Order: sequence, then C-alpha cells, then structure tokens
Amino acid sequence: MQDKVTSKKEDISRFLCENCGANMIYSPSAGGLHCEYCGHKEEVRITGFVEERSFDEFIRAGAQRLTPMAVNALQVQCSSCGATVNFTPPETATVCAFCGGKIVAQPKAADPLVAPHGVLPFSISTGLAADGFKKWLHSLWFAPSKLKHLAESDKLVSIYIPYWTYDAATVSDYSGQRGDNYTEWETVTVNGKQERRSVTKTRWTSVSGRVARRFDDVCVPATTSIRREYLERLEPWDLPELRPYEPAYLSGHKAEAYRVPLDGGFERFKEIAQGIIVSDCKRDIGGDRQHVNDVNANYSNISFKHILLPVYSGGYRFGGKTYQIVINGRTGQVHGGRPYSVLKIVALICVLLFIVLLIVAVFS
Ligand SMILES: [Zn+2]
Ligand SMILES: [Zn+2]
Repeated sequence: MQDKVTSKKEDISRFLCENCGANMIYSPSAGGLHCEYCGHKEEVRITGFVEERSFDEFIRAGAQRLTPMAVNALQVQCSSCGATVNFTPPETATVCAFCGGKIVAQPKAADPLVAPHGVLPFSISTGLAADGFKKWLHSLWFAPSKLKHLAESDKLVSIYIPYWTYDAATVSDYSGQRGDNYTEWETVTVNGKQERRSVTKTRWTSVSGRVARRFDDVCVPATTSIRREYLERLEPWDLPELRPYEPAYLSGHKAEAYRVPLDGGFERFKEIAQGIIVSDCKRDIGGDRQHVNDVNANYSNISFKHILLPVYSGGYRFGGKTYQIVINGRTGQVHGGRPYSVLKIVALICVLLFIVLLIVAVFS
C-alpha cells in the first residue's frame, strides 16, 4: 500500500498564486485556495479517496511509514503546555493556540509522523468564529462585566486537531449470570393480624455465550491539549464530508501534531468498544437481570485513519487565570472555560432571599 501523500520537491511551489506569485491560503469562505493580493482562486486538487489503513501492517512497518505533513512544514513546540504545532510558511507561530502562551522557540523542520489520511476543511471564517465567540461571552450568566470587552478575533487560531478513527471486527466470549424474576407469597404479621403479600425474587443461573460486532469509524482524539469534555461538546463532526488529505488545506492554518500515538489511541478505542460489547452480552443473556463476569474480546481486521478536524482555539486571561476557548470550524459551536462574578452571584442570592422573606411575611 502506497501513501497518497507524496513528498515531491515541486510540492513547495504549489500554494503560490499563478497570477502574482503571492502565497495562497486555504479560505473557508471560498472553499479553496485564495490569493489575498489579487483575489485569484484555485480549487484544491484532491487525488484518491480517504482510505483506511491496516493497523497491524502500519505498526509492523514502524518509523518507515512516517512523513512530514507537508514538504516545507515547520514545527514549533509550546514551552508552557507542550503542544507541537505544524504549519507551512509564510504562516508563523508566535502565540500558542491552546494556552495563549508566547512561543519563543525557533521553528524547525517538522518531524515525520503518520501522515493524515483525511481532513475536514474549515468552512467558517475567523471573522464568523470571532462573532460566535463574542455572542457566547455575552450569553454567559454571572460573567464579570469586563469580560465582554475581551473578544478579539486575533486571539483565535485556526488549527486542525488530530484524531484517530478505528474500524474492527470483534468476536467476544463471555460468562456471567442470568437472573429470572419470580413471585413468592409470604405470610407476615401486621398489627397482630396475619397478611399474605407477594415478594419478587430472582433465580440466578450461570450462562456463557458469544457475541459479534463490527465497529466503524470510532473517533479517538489524538490531542491532549484540549480538555476531553470540550472536545466532546464540539461533536458531532460531519465526517461524511471528509476529504483526502492535501497539504494545501494546511496553507494559512496550523495543525497540531498528535500526542496520543496510534497504538495508544487503539487502547482508548478498546475501552470505548468494551462498554458497547458488555451491553451486547447483556442483551444476549436476556432474562430480567444480568451480570457479566468476564468478556474476552477478539479484535480482527483492524484498520485506522488519521484525520484532522478544524477548530478555532484560543486562550484568554482574566483575573490572573487562563481560560481555553474552542470553536467548531464547521458549525461555529463555541465551548470553553469561563470565570464567574462572585458579586453577581451574591447579588442574585440576596434578591432571591428577599423574595422568599417577602412571601413568608405576606402569607403568615
Ligand atoms: Zn495572486
Ligand atoms: Zn501552549
């Protein structure tokens, strides 16, 4: 299997405008490469399709399969949070997209890694993302008033976040107990009188069996720079719109290098799969109640994809603390950390207390 991402030397010139020679960037609103100087537009030429790779083959091949994201890609590491960001010139990285810290390290040639197979291009512009951020700040209850002056678009960085997706066939042998409910009548003495009443009891029997399930495109974040709860709230992603990876999509944007390796991501996938397999076992056991003691899952035909998903990310500082903001680059959904105004909360509690006291006074 040949990687579709070729590393020919002439690739370096591919993002130059054929009209004026300036650098073209991937524009979400144009849906293609765009020259900011003369307005020339160009489609991203995609070859092939988003292919899944054999997991075992890839792990066996080791480092030989690794390539940089683009021939001229540079990388820089944030000394505060440890995130590694890839970008292509003339793009620069001066502020960390995740923690807002200043980047002082000099960029160096990007390390080879598992090349992305698919990318979900940005479809909303930085301006729209910034507007969304502003609206979000205004909608926050109990936010300090000063916060509302803070939303500036230059605080947001458009960055592709790395994910792994896994496919696998599983056959799982399990053992457990099946509980069937039955009713028993018993006689009890209540206030000196004898009464009969029904009691539900469960008869347990040991069971074992086998269940099978195919998993398709289970997404596992390969980043550790964004809190898992924020990432989950950015879902769902319109994965059917995934395009085969082309370095052109990176032009004018950044991409985080994965920090969770391919095999580490697979362990997380197995955790997710295990939960679903246990529910399958319970359904297979039937009866009224089920205990699953032991599941032995066998994974085969494992394949994976490395994909990049579009996020606007930024950090803002308030009251000596840093808060992280993430925005879905397809839908504009905003999530992030926020400060609370103690003053506003105390004021509301006082008002509520006053209303309660008033009601008590009127009705007593
Ligand atoms: Zn041009
Ligand atoms: Zn950082």
